[in-house]
Amino acid sequence: MKPPSTGQAAPGPAILPAEQGRSPKPAAVEISEEEIVRGLAGITEPEPEQEQKTESMAEEAPLPTPSVPAMFIVMMTPELAPAAKVGGLADVVYGLSRELELRGNAVEIILPKYDCMRYDQIFGLTKAYENLWVPWYNGGITTSVWFGCVHGCKCFFVDPHSRDNFFSRGIVYGHNDDLLRFAFFCRAALEFMFKTGKQPEIIHCHDWQTALVPVLLYEVYQHLGMRHPRVCFTVHNFRHQGAGGGYILQATGLNRPEHFFHYDRLRDNHNPQALNLMKGGIVYSNFVTTVSPRHAWEAKDGGQAHGLERTLHLHHYKYGGVLNGLDYTQFNPETDPHIPTHYSLQTIDKKYENKRALRRRLWLAENEKPIVAFIGRLDAQKGLELVRHALFYSLNNRAQFVLLGNSPEHGTNEHFRGIKQHLNENPDCHLEISYDEDLAHLIYAGADLIIVPSRYEPCGLAQLIALRYGTVPVVRAVGGLADTVFDKDYASRPLHERNGYVFDHADNAGIESALRRAIGCYYHFPDHFRQLMINGMRCDFSWKQPGEHYLKIYDYIRDK
Ligand code: ADP
Repeated sequence: MKPPSTGQAAPGPAILPAEQGRSPKPAAVEISEEEIVRGLAGITEPEPEQEQKTESMAEEAPLPTPSVPAMFIVMMTPELAPAAKVGGLADVVYGLSRELELRGNAVEIILPKYDCMRYDQIFGLTKAYENLWVPWYNGGITTSVWFGCVHGCKCFFVDPHSRDNFFSRGIVYGHNDDLLRFAFFCRAALEFMFKTGKQPEIIHCHDWQTALVPVLLYEVYQHLGMRHPRVCFTVHNFRHQGAGGGYILQATGLNRPEHFFHYDRLRDNHNPQALNLMKGGIVYSNFVTTVSPRHAWEAKDGGQAHGLERTLHLHHYKYGGVLNGLDYTQFNPETDPHIPTHYSLQTIDKKYENKRALRRRLWLAENEKPIVAFIGRLDAQKGLELVRHALFYSLNNRAQFVLLGNSPEHGTNEHFRGIKQHLNENPDCHLEISYDEDLAHLIYAGADLIIVPSRYEPCGLAQLIALRYGTVPVVRAVGGLADTVFDKDYASRPLHERNGYVFDHADNAGIESALRRAIGCYYHFPDHFRQLMINGMRCDFSWKQPGEHYLKIYDYIRDK
């Protein structure tokens, strides 16, 4: 493995540089957002600031001839869908791993063995390695490594036997010692690979929890003989970087604080007392990606890297954005087991049977109105004040509104429950404050419009799912949303590639401008609206292209 370097330009691969149950309701009346929101707990104030494909999605095109020779790839990850899922990262690791395997590569995944995993999703779980001695502080921790399959993915689960119970805490993240927990995971995963003689061409690490892997590989394991693997590091969210004290160096055996507390290595760019693991991942990896080309630019040049802008600039020659894919087997309106009526491009009218089913399930009025929906975490990142405004705007402008979401913060849930209570009698509105995968699929299939007004959105899955289901997205032009949704009226794209509505400013006027056009088109130009639905369903945001991109990156770095 090559040493970390601080800024020599080199040619890169072809990657572009730099989101129930209640009684029927009477007819709607004009609704004042101010009136209803007044008196409710406030939500956090905003921070300052294709090509056409086959007509039938059921006809899977044959896989292309491999563009690069097959490789052995190890994924290091804190999450994997559906066994250990907290957010989109879990889906990405699963979808990418499946795609790489389909293309003839050997993929193995290493993750912690959490007590809170969905064990019903892991098949053939058996102990693969006992008594692995993982160096830790001045001693070590005896660790078992388990093997099991998660929907066809070969996985190794790291299970330490210590009183710290690193991964038996009932949740994946959120403990005071998260840095230590995941530093241990990195050390244990590499020790396991070393002891079992695994020599993959590529180790692909995801987010700060795995960022010590390239550091340990270069600083420790290379000297023990692991010279082969190259590391690709993907940042899914710059907001969480794993910054903390120097004790990590003693714990992992890296030691040498004078070496690592250096701005060229792991020293945090803003807090000189802290080490920053994500920074270490960027410095020591052979290639760094984030999850869309637009977000790659926003992070490096748009001030959205939460303090790592300078580091990205120094390492710009090995940095780029690769758009996430969507698992098209899980999200397919032709086969989706969660929806009552299947449909395709040819039978797009059957989508309206799902609209009727959605209305029946949520006790919404059967009328001529479009259904505007929001599905997502109720987090400030998602532009909650704009979601709220869109709700009232829709109800006041001849549309129905459905919201499905929840938050780990009690106050935010209560705020939306308050709105729900005030609108309880409204026949055009339903708010569901929970996590409900089944209902999410029905909403994607039954709604006419999906709003995604995020403040920032590294990639975003909601708009990709909506497009797949012929539901027209209305999005803010940030991150992956800007890379995947092209405005019907203003995009500089051919007409057949325009698939939704886009607005720029994160304010009420911004989202109104897009929603007004969308609802107006639905009523006054139904043919145009239908064409938008068709254009969306024709998009290909499967893993095919991202899989190809990652293989090119792996191929580019493997001989370095
Ligand atoms: P993030 O990873 O920031 O949460 P993404 O848009 O990348 O956002 O992915 C979120 C995924 O989780 C989408 O598939 C979305 O449909 C799903 N999701 C979010 N909230 C809910 C919910 N309350 N119920 C069901 N599915 C949800």
